[in-house]
Formats: sequence, structure tokens, C-alpha cells
Amino acid sequence: MSATAADVRQWDLDHLWHPFTQMAEYAETDPLVVVAGEGNYLVDDHGRRLFDATSALWCNLFGHRVPAIDAAVREQLGRLAHSTLLGATHPGAAELARRLVEITPPGLDHVFFTDNGATAVEAALKIAFQYRLLTQGPEAAARSTYLSFDNAYHGDTLGAAAVGGVELFHETFRPILLRTLKVRAPYCYRCPAGKAPGDCPIDRGDEVEEALAREGGRVSAVVLEPGLQAAAGMLVLPEGFLTAVAAACRRHGALLILDEVATGFGRTGALFACEREGVIPDLLCLAKGLTGGYLPLAATLATDAIYRVFLGRYEEYRHFFHGHTYTGNPLGCAAALATLKLLAESGAVGAVPGKARILREALAAVEAHPKVGDVRQAGLMCGVELVADRSGKTRFPPGERTGHKVCLAMRDHGVFARPLGDVIVLMPPLSATETELRHLAASLQAVLQDRFGG
Ligand code: PMP
Repeated sequence: MSATAADVRQWDLDHLWHPFTQMAEYAETDPLVVVAGEGNYLVDDHGRRLFDATSALWCNLFGHRVPAIDAAVREQLGRLAHSTLLGATHPGAAELARRLVEITPPGLDHVFFTDNGATAVEAALKIAFQYRLLTQGPEAAARSTYLSFDNAYHGDTLGAAAVGGVELFHETFRPILLRTLKVRAPYCYRCPAGKAPGDCPIDRGDEVEEALAREGGRVSAVVLEPGLQAAAGMLVLPEGFLTAVAAACRRHGALLILDEVATGFGRTGALFACEREGVIPDLLCLAKGLTGGYLPLAATLATDAIYRVFLGRYEEYRHFFHGHTYTGNPLGCAAALATLKLLAESGAVGAVPGKARILREALAAVEAHPKVGDVRQAGLMCGVELVADRSGKTRFPPGERTGHKVCLAMRDHGVFARPLGDVIVLMPPLSATETELRHLAASLQAVLQDRFGG
């Protein structure tokens, strides 16, 4: 006998501890129970269809139940669900590694698989450390550190959190985190920071340059989300900043780790955000969209120069002692290969700038609303920041849960969205149609009007 809706609710309340969720508040609400996906929509247990404006937490590219990805996973399931990459390989992992090397910026020739964004970053941080150890010896390695940015988000494991800088997520754990250097990222936002649109700091990486110079070669790696700091609220970085950071890294002998977990696979309008400035990192972290939002799989790509340093005789122990049980899982690799084929053949990435413009135009009324402080966007990654008073540039008290309530109300208009604080995140899949994008904007506008007038 299958579970009733009441069973699901009860088991969920009794036993399931949800991520990033105040469970006391959650217990008071009627949770969305997703039972199916259909294209760009989620279907709940009442049969209600909701446009998935979260892209399944920023990873779905072509919607749910994509025939080509479904078929690839099914076909793989008929052969092998899982084995290991520790001392063995399988065709999907080898082919996917080759494909990733082909489509990423030149020079990134080696692929280390993990299973999530945070683990892709952890691998990059440890590779950077061991690279320093192998090239400069234990003393230099022991003194080494990482440089990352205020408002950065790279995942929640301890290493990834150490290079994170979102106060709300990371400060609690600071006492148990690796000590790293932080610099300010020169993102632009209008409100409530009080900057006019386009009034970004002129900062062209000066702070990074200064910090690296001050540390005198102690920094093993600089870690950056290229293009925008997504989890901090879609804070868009000024053009040229990435180039400046990359140049500073070269001058001071620090590796550049780019985290394209969120921006990768077309969401900003380029296949990878670093392409927009022609920057090639030393280590590149990918996850989320890699499998089209189907299965947990991630990759850390490294240059040949890094990879070669880890080669030697067995007893030199230069190899990378790091890995996970499900590393390079065959089902995930099959989903990823099918996703990359779709990306190459569908023209979906080329269509992103046009769709992004449509979304922006459709958001004109939202942008003009007095409770909207800012609309920030890079391709189909968009954040609408709600403020209590635009003229006074004040935020809503956190306890009012404004962003959360606005997202809940959007469900009545057929949209599933999730906020970051009071920033309403609109991250539709690449497959979103013009009609869906317009409906997404209209639903937010309707909720703002309902709630605040205007
Ligand atoms: N890096 C970035 C830039 C991200 O946005 C995220 C997730 N939002 C992560 C890393 C962590 O990925 P995961 O949740 O898969 O560990």
C-alpha cells in the first residue's frame, strides 16, 4: 500500500530535518510535496502544476523528465549503476572527462570527479595545498593560506565554508573553520547599500593585488565565483574584475580557483562565465547543471602543469589522497553526457541572452515597485531585492519573513520560487519559454501589488 498524503506529512514532520530550514516554522506551514516533474513544472500531491523558478535549486537546465536524459540514465541502469573510480574506470567517466576538457577553456586537461559543488571546491582547495607542498616544500605549505571574498559562497563543508563569506551562513562556524584571508568583492547594488545603478566601485582588483603583495607569496589560491556572487543574493561583479584578479594571481604565484558550480553550463549566457573575460583558471569547479539537474555529480578540472606535479613513483606518495565512494557515478556520467549533447545541439546557451532580455523587460513593473530596492541579473540568474523603504534604503526586519511570504504567495500564481533572505531568486531553466518568463515576472508583480499595493 502506498503512503497517503497524511503519512507523508507525518513522517516528514517527525523525522526529516530539512536543510537551511527553521524546522519550528516549517512545522507550522503546509509544505509543498513534490510528486512529479513535467517539463519546466513541478507537480504537487494535489495535482497542482508550479513553474519551477528555482531550476531544482539552480541545477536543472532543460526541465524535468527530458526524454534524452531519461533514456541515457535508463540505458546506463541496464548496464551498471555504480562501481568505483579508485583503481578502475568505466566508459562514461572516461568519455565525460574527455568532453569536459573539450568544452572548458583550453589548458584544463584533467578532471577529478566528486559528487557536489562543495566537494568540487574541497578537492580544488586540497589540490592547491598539495601542489604548494610538492613544489615548495612543507614549510611553505604550512604557512600557506587561501584568499576569498566577502559574500562568497562555495558550499557548506568545512573547507568550502572557510572560503565562504556570507555572514548568516558562515559566521556561526568560523571558530572551527580554517583561517583564510578575505577581501571585499566590488559588487554593484543599488539598494539598500545606497549605490545608484552603475555606481560600482572603480575597484579593478586593487584589494586583491594589495592582499597578495602583503602576504608575500603565502597565498596558495584565490577562490572566486566569476560573474556574480549567487548565494549572497545575485551580487553582480563588475566587468573586468575577473581579469584583474587573474592577473594579480599570475603576478604573485597564487593559483586561481574558479567556482562555476552555479554559473556553469550556460546560465549567464556563456557556457562558462569565465569565457566572458577570456580567463583560464588553474582549477575549475563544476557541479549543479553538469547532469542537467538529474544526479549528484561534480568535477574539478586542473591544468596539466598542476597534474604533472602529482606524478612520481608510488613510494614518493605524491598522489592525491582524496576521493569519495560515489565519485564519477556511472548514472551521473550518463546524465551528464546526455546533457552536454543537448547543450551542444539545442542552441540553448545561445538563446539565454535573448531570454534574459525578455525576463528583464517583463520585470519592468516589478523594478518600479516601491518595495523593490534592486533587480540584479546575469543571464537567467536574477535576484529581486525587496526593501522596506526604497528612499530610506532600509531592509525589512528579518522576522517578518517578507521574502519567504512573497514566495509562498507566488505559488497561488503557479510559480515555485525560493528566496535568499528578502531577495527573490528567479532562476528559470534554460528551457523556459517567453510565455513562462513573462508569467514569472507577472506573478511576482501580482504578489507585490496584493501585499503592498503600488
Ligand atoms: N558553489 C557555488 C557557487 C554554489 O552556488 C553552490 C550551491 N548553491 C555551491 C558551491 C555548493 O554546491 P552544493 O550545494 O552542490 O554542495
